Amino acid sequence: MKTLSERYDVVLDRIHHTAVRANRNPAEITLVAVTKTLPAEIVQAAYEVGMRHFGENRAAELVEKRPLLTSHTKPDDPIIWHAIGTIQSRKTNAIANHADIFHALDRLKIANRLSHRLVENGRNLPIFLEINISGEASKAGFNCAHWEQDATQTAHLRTVAQKVAQLPSLQLAGLMTMAPWHVEPEQIRTIFRRTRQLAQQLQNDLALTSPLQLSMGMTDDFEIAIEEGATHIRVGRAIFGER
Ligand SMILES: *Cc1c(COP(=O)(O)O)cnc(C)c1O
Repeated sequence: MKTLSERYDVVLDRIHHTAVRANRNPAEITLVAVTKTLPAEIVQAAYEVGMRHFGENRAAELVEKRPLLTSHTKPDDPIIWHAIGTIQSRKTNAIANHADIFHALDRLKIANRLSHRLVENGRNLPIFLEINISGEASKAGFNCAHWEQDATQTAHLRTVAQKVAQLPSLQLAGLMTMAPWHVEPEQIRTIFRRTRQLAQQLQNDLALTSPLQLSMGMTDDFEIAIEEGATHIRVGRAIFGER
């Protein structure tokens, strides 16, 4: 059995080697350690071996763990909490209060509610729009399954992106996607590549000055995601073992 620290090192090595092979700077890739279902003690152990970015997919777990960890972390070297799962509108306050970055915006209504609460709290929140590139009915996110052919899909996404960029206290960070389960690596690569191309298109259309970031890649596919331009990978099992 490998220790947490050893598994973390293996993942860091894989990120490093993949980035270098792809002519990318490893420092531009943020590893979000996904701690969903794990107790606060494990998050603390992960902090102690050097992890700083943590991802939770349920608002309730974020609300529970964040305050527990605050007393065990250095104030000048805090944890950055990533909310990575889609939320229902009644959970927006929890996310606005406790998330530092939100990866899974799938409806404008959620953005409006987040913005309202963030303004009250005096907080800011970078937001990724979740994109459904594969078109699977089971997947959340804005439907962009045919964005290259279907101008209405890109137009809708553009409207949403513009609104998010304009709403007070929200920042448009980029696009997030999830690859389908049980498909060939080359299909996964296509999903990630099309997401990157969509981000590029959106950036041009909106004349954005800073590049849109890409949250994509998990335990089984983060190397492909890095090769295709991911800036944030969300990795659970490779670091913490099977859930
Ligand atoms: C669970 C989860 C992950 C991490 O998955 P692993 O397979 O454990 O790496 C990444 N993103 C989201 C949205 C998740 O829910």
